[in-house]
Amino acid sequence: MKILKFGGTSVGKPERMHSVAELINDQDKKIVVLSAVTGTTNALVEIGTLLAASKSNEASEAVEKLYAHYQEFIAKLYSTSHGLSAGKTIIENEFDLIKSYLKKPCGVAEQKVLLAQGELISTQLFHQYLLEIGRESVLLPALRFMKIDEDNEPVLSFIEEKLSALINEYPTNKLFITQGYIATNPEGEIDNLKRGGSDYTATLIGAALRSDEIQIWTDIDGMHNNDPRIVRKTFPIREMSFEEAAELAYFGAKILHPTCIVPAMERGVPVRLLNTMQPQEKGTLIAAQNRSGRDITAIAAKDDITVIKIKSGRMLNAYGFLRRVFEVFENFKTPIDVITTSEVALSVTIDDSSKLNEILIELEKIASVEIEDKQSIVCIVGDFAADKNGIVIKIFEALREIPVRMISYGGSKNNTTILIDTTNKNAALNALNEGLFKEELALV
Ligand code: ADP
Ligand code: ASP
Ligand code: MG
Repeated sequence: MKILKFGGTSVGKPERMHSVAELINDQDKKIVVLSAVTGTTNALVEIGTLLAASKSNEASEAVEKLYAHYQEFIAKLYSTSHGLSAGKTIIENEFDLIKSYLKKPCGVAEQKVLLAQGELISTQLFHQYLLEIGRESVLLPALRFMKIDEDNEPVLSFIEEKLSALINEYPTNKLFITQGYIATNPEGEIDNLKRGGSDYTATLIGAALRSDEIQIWTDIDGMHNNDPRIVRKTFPIREMSFEEAAELAYFGAKILHPTCIVPAMERGVPVRLLNTMQPQEKGTLIAAQNRSGRDITAIAAKDDITVIKIKSGRMLNAYGFLRRVFEVFENFKTPIDVITTSEVALSVTIDDSSKLNEILIELEKIASVEIEDKQSIVCIVGDFAADKNGIVIKIFEALREIPVRMISYGGSKNNTTILIDTTNKNAALNALNEGLFKEELALV
C-alpha cells in the first residue's frame, strides 16, 4: 500500500485534478489524501474570522465569491452533463451548510466546522471526477478514523484500528480517496491538524498502516537546501534522513507540516517529496539514512519567536533552578525550542506565546526576566558528528555581518540553531546560502 498526498496547488485547478487522476492511474493499492483547493482554507479562515467579529455582510460576500469560484471550477472539471450535475449537487449541499453558519453565532467550534469544508469539497469533487472517467474509487470519510486528543495530538492507535477496519470493508478495492487536515477531537467535534495538516494526515495514515511509502506531491521538486521564497538560487536535496527532515520541517521549511515526519520516522516508512507539475523529477527521498556523506544539508527559518531571558542570582553553583524554570513551561504546556545557558542566566525561545503572561508571572517569582519578540530561529541541518571539525567556522564566517542573539550547537548531531532579529532573516539566509553551498551552487 502507498499513500499519496496532493497539496492545494496540486488540486488547485480543474486541469490539475485531471493530472492527479493520471498520476494515480496504475494498479498499485493506494490511499490518496487531498488538501483543499488552493485559497479555499484561507477564504474559510477569513469567513470564520468575519463571522466571529459579527461582520456577517462581509462574510456573506466572501461566501458568494467562493461559491462563484466553485461554479467555474466544476464547469471545467466535468465534461459530461451527468458529471456536471453531480458536481453541482456537491457544491449546493456544501454551500447550503456554509451559508447556514452565516445566521448563527460563530465561536471556535463553528470556525473549525467551516475550515473542514475545504477538504470535504475537494475530495467529493475529485471522487466524482474519477466516477465520470470510469475509475472505481472509494471515498473514505477521514472523520471516521482521524482523531486528536485533548493536547491536540493525533491518536495513532485509534487511527490504526479504525482505518484498518474501514479498509477491510472493501477487500477488492485498490483506490481510496480521503480528506487531509480534518479530524475529530475528544468532544467528538470536527477539528483539524493545524495549517498544512494534510501532510500530517498522510504520514499518520502511512504509519498506521505501515505502508511501503508516503508520497507528498506538491508544487516544487523536493526539499531544497534553503527557503526558495527568500533565497534566489536554491537546489533540491535528493536524499536526507528522517532526523534532518524533521528538524527542517519543525524549523520552518514550509514544504512539510512541522511535525509530520514524526510518525513516518517512528515506524520507518520512507517519505518521498514529489512535484505534481514535473512528475518525472526525482524529488527528495526521506529515509532512515543520509547516505550522501555531506556535512551540511539545508537551512530553514522560523519566525514569530519570543526569547525569554531568565537570570537568577542564586543559579551560581546551585542545583534545582533549571528544573523549576522548566516546570513553569511544562505547567503551561508551552514547548521550548532553543536553550542557551551561562552560569547565572538562561535564555529560552518559544513560538507559542499564548500563555506568555502566565509564564512570566510564575518565572518572576524565582528570577528576573526579560523578553524580546519578533525573533527568528535559523536552523542549519546536516551531519555534525562530534568528531567533525570546521563546520562552526563556516557558519560563523558566513554570518560575519549578521548580529547573532543565541547559538545552540551540539544538542543533536543534526542541527545548529541560531537566533536573530527577524529584520535580519533574509540577509542571514542569503549569506548562509553563499557561504555554505558555494560548490553546489556553482553546479546549479
Ligand atoms: P502544498 O500546498 O502542496 O502543501 P506548500 O505551499 O505547503 O504546498 O509547500 C510547498 C512550498 O514550500 C513551496 O512552493 C516552497 O515555496 C515552500 N518551501 C519553503 N521552504 C522550502 C524548502 N526548503 N524546500 C522546498 N520548498 C520550500
Ligand atoms: N487545507 C489546509 C491548509 O491550507 C491543509 C493543507 O493544505 O495541508 O492549511
Ligand atoms: Mg503544505
